[in-house]
Amino acid sequence: MGEFELIRRYFSASDLQIPRRDVCLGIGDDCALIAVPSGKQLAVSVDTSIAGVHFLPDASAHSIGWRALAVSLSDLAAMGAQPAWFTLALSLPQAEDAWLRGFAQGMAELSRRYGIALVGGDTTRSELLSISVQVQGYVRQGASWQRRGARAGDIIYVSDRLGKAALGLKLAYQQKQAGQIPGLDTSASPAEAELLRAYFYPEPRFDLIQILSSRVSSAIDISDGLMADLQHILSSSNVGARLDASRIPVVTDLPDTLDTSDAIEAALHGGDDYQICFTVSPQRRLELEVSAGQCGLTLYPIGVVERQRGIRGMKSDQTSGYDHFKAR
Ligand code: ADP
Ligand code: MG
Repeated sequence: MGEFELIRRYFSASDLQIPRRDVCLGIGDDCALIAVPSGKQLAVSVDTSIAGVHFLPDASAHSIGWRALAVSLSDLAAMGAQPAWFTLALSLPQAEDAWLRGFAQGMAELSRRYGIALVGGDTTRSELLSISVQVQGYVRQGASWQRRGARAGDIIYVSDRLGKAALGLKLAYQQKQAGQIPGLDTSASPAEAELLRAYFYPEPRFDLIQILSSRVSSAIDISDGLMADLQHILSSSNVGARLDASRIPVVTDLPDTLDTSDAIEAALHGGDDYQICFTVSPQRRLELEVSAGQCGLTLYPIGVVERQRGIRGMKSDQTSGYDHFKAR
């Protein structure tokens, strides 16, 4: 199968090309042509997932496809942007039909859910499986949430219990050690399934956009762990924070093979959760919590923004975050 047949079979003639009226020209030419709605700003982000670094190469192709798109979409959700279009740069060692089919299906499930259309990409051969997904969405002029908007006195929230994905990854390593294929398998208990799902099938939090809308002063998605990502909000906003360690929502429903110290470490430093950390001024707090309650969503306040830089309220060895180029 040649490059063009591969593109046709799995991408241009696949479920990934969902129809959108604003796609004037999709896959097949030198560029895609898009009609950006007037009055909106284009939000653009790209993420690369490399086998063995960002995902387990022996995971199912379906989850690899889902996850590669989900982690990029999460950046749109974290800015309050509506997903619209994406491009896919794929480098793979070989063109294997079953793998490509599963990969495209996993990606298509998520793209259909959020109405985001694949409009182009690039396909190359390389020793290393590498997947870059560039997403584009739109947001009303001035309505995006940015990292730099946190003010002293604002309440810091997170959008779910934290650490599920990192615990899911631990379970996946345990599966590998037991000679199983890592993934969401049918023999998993409900507690295991929730953690495995968080890792293999993360859900970008577009459901929060409506509720958080204009109430949020800053936001970020938690991809590298709470401590690391909260630090980005704080430094961009030139502020610090006091956290209430007892209110950081850790996973309590743990499988037998994991313990509380795993759950705490995962909540503070575990990556891959793709939950949102955001700040809200105290005046809007009640309004936000009522509106979240009406939608059946639980938001977790974990501390307050302070003028003084740095993070207080935690043990000092708990405040550092993950950095790809720095060993902890
Ligand atoms: P060019 O050489 O002009 O960059 P390519 O030969 O790389 O074009 O690609 C041909 C068409 O197929 C382009 O429209 C491109 O956007 C699309 N395409 C290539 N790879 C992918 C992919 N993995 N997913 C979606 N579209 C792709
Ligand atoms: Mg090209």
